[in-house]
Amino acid sequence: MSEINLEEESKDILKAYRSMLRAAKHAKKDTATKKRMKTAFYVAVEAHKNDRRKSGEPYIFHPIAVARICAEEIGLGATSIICALLHDTVEDTEITLEDIEEQFGKKEALIIDGLTKISGVVDNNVSLQAENFRKILLTLSEDVRVILIKIADRLHNMRTIGSMRRDKQLKIASETLFLYAPLAHRLGLHSIKSELEDLSLKCQEPEMFEEIQGKLTKTEEIRKRFIRKFSSPIKQALEKKELAFEIKGRPKSIYSIWNKMVNKDVSFEEVYDLFAIRIIIDSEFENNEKSDCWQVYSVVTDFYQPNIERLRDWISAPKTNGYESLHTTVMSPTGKWVEVQIRTRRMDDIAEKGFAAHWKYKEGGAESQFDIWINQVRELLENSDEDTLDLIGDFKLNLFTDEIYVFTPNGDMKSLPTGASTLDFAFSIHTQVGVNCIGAKVNSKLVPLSHQLSSGDQVEILTAKKQQPKKEWLNFVQTHRAKTKIKSSLNEEKRVVAKEGRITLEKEFKKLKISYENISLKELQSYYKVPSELELYYQVATNNIDLTKLKEFEVRKGILQPKRTITSRVQDYFVQRKSTTSKIKKLKKPILVIGDNMEKLDYQLANCCNPIPGNEVYGFITVTEGIKVHKTSCPNTVQLMSNYAYRIIKASWIDEQEAAFLTGLKIIGIDDVGIVNGITQVISNELDVNMRSISFESHDGVFEGRVMVLVQDTSHLTNLIKNLKKVKGVKKVEQIDK
Ligand code: MN
Repeated sequence: MSEINLEEESKDILKAYRSMLRAAKHAKKDTATKKRMKTAFYVAVEAHKNDRRKSGEPYIFHPIAVARICAEEIGLGATSIICALLHDTVEDTEITLEDIEEQFGKKEALIIDGLTKISGVVDNNVSLQAENFRKILLTLSEDVRVILIKIADRLHNMRTIGSMRRDKQLKIASETLFLYAPLAHRLGLHSIKSELEDLSLKCQEPEMFEEIQGKLTKTEEIRKRFIRKFSSPIKQALEKKELAFEIKGRPKSIYSIWNKMVNKDVSFEEVYDLFAIRIIIDSEFENNEKSDCWQVYSVVTDFYQPNIERLRDWISAPKTNGYESLHTTVMSPTGKWVEVQIRTRRMDDIAEKGFAAHWKYKEGGAESQFDIWINQVRELLENSDEDTLDLIGDFKLNLFTDEIYVFTPNGDMKSLPTGASTLDFAFSIHTQVGVNCIGAKVNSKLVPLSHQLSSGDQVEILTAKKQQPKKEWLNFVQTHRAKTKIKSSLNEEKRVVAKEGRITLEKEFKKLKISYENISLKELQSYYKVPSELELYYQVATNNIDLTKLKEFEVRKGILQPKRTITSRVQDYFVQRKSTTSKIKKLKKPILVIGDNMEKLDYQLANCCNPIPGNEVYGFITVTEGIKVHKTSCPNTVQLMSNYAYRIIKASWIDEQEAAFLTGLKIIGIDDVGIVNGITQVISNELDVNMRSISFESHDGVFEGRVMVLVQDTSHLTNLIKNLKKVKGVKKVEQIDK
């Protein structure tokens, strides 16, 4: 064990405190304030003197770092610095709120009280429910600094998360993504929000994170080249106008790239080049800002054709979180839409750092400007006389389920919930457009109807008269409207299809020489295990009911005597062929092993992501439908994993060759109705082997079948042969080569 040099440590602590003060150069520095800060520092040092962080360093480094983030990255003043220095004292040490109030004042005591309470609510709870949000909000309306210091606290914890226990790391990371990053965003702290997201992802998906990071570095040159080429004419023109400016290309953050990859199921290569070009003008504050920005806009659009619908003027009307910028999207010579953000240095600073930047530009000191800002945020959150619960609902809604804005080819704007697809869009235009939708052109690129839309997309729906809604469509839509329309259309379609089913059924009974009137449909329904008459007809029409069993049903009921004619046998044969081929299709599922013991359990492939062999997958134990297999990249994964971690089980595809070998079987028997069914039943259901192909011949009453199957080993094969021999009519089963 290396010995700790306490003297060195004290020096380092003092050093950290001083450099924090230097970073807080904007804070009020009259003698009294300086003294109060110093007192706070010494009180904290004394209170935490016996505490160390998981990394081994003295605990006091943490409050100093939090104070520094408050000052440097959020732009908070002396009061917040004092509170940040003391933020963990009441919770973790002997110091009481009364001590704080006595020594520092009422305001400070209130803020620290808020911080202590939040930490009780948020940090020590397993899940964040609405109730917790309420508490946070109530504290927030007391003093928004509580939230800001808490964000700084969380940022420092995330930056130093490495020394924590893994399970704690994961909890903290997901909570950061769920609560703190959106809060930071809401408060206009853009770079903190991005950093929180990236740090969380790095913790949750370290390999993915590194992969994207590596690829970003590798592709940097390509992006730079594009940006150079794109900006070169703009640069020349702006230089002629003698404007001081900077042009940079901002690639997306690792988190937002990952998010796109997962949500849209696309590869890195399809998103890596998404970036905005930012032109920052060193404009004279307030006097020329607006006109300078529009001048730059005019230069940009002299060279590149703008998409008028995607012009955003947040200079004339800044966003509620203070964001100011002029955005336009223009067509590059390579045919790619490029977003250009035009703003002044001041606007850029504010966009990146939120309030931190204001003090540089406004007179009258940081603290007074800050008060104005606090009031705005508070108003934003209090701007409702409704029930507090409604407010929480709105708050959460705004934080987590933003809307997107998309455009028709004519430039009409539609707002849809985040995650909406082209199909949602189609139904939002007109029911008939939705019903006949076959796909769309999004920003002139052809996409399927399941395509997820993003804000700013221009969508042209493609239709075909013959198109009809399908059941899977329900998985593609978000909006209530689209869902209801699809459902009602499906029912209508079902009724039409069911009519044919009824005709087929009547014919079948006619063949069996049974009058349809004598049939009890109720009994037939329960025999085939369908819930309704409509469903019965529908299943018949869609070939999902084995009509060869009708006889069995009737024989059982004593209506029909088992007596066969040649024609009916031929008929049987074809019906059976039909049903077996469809069965083979179903049986051809590749080998998926589930659970820690790599067992072959029954499973279904999830409709939402349709995994195929080779995909990275996992199993989810559903309540009513057994195990559903999802792709790891399925859009539902995050939600499933975070809410039902205990229902997730391991699953992976294994190479069929590894687990099975292909062999042929020759089956000879007496041609008898049901022999084909019997054989396929044994192969599929009883042993769950994979059937590769099947062929049957029958002459002079002798039946001969050849089946290619995948079996695991010889004992498996012996067992299969044994069971096949038990099928009624089968006389001989032997292994063959082909
Ligand atoms: Mn802390």
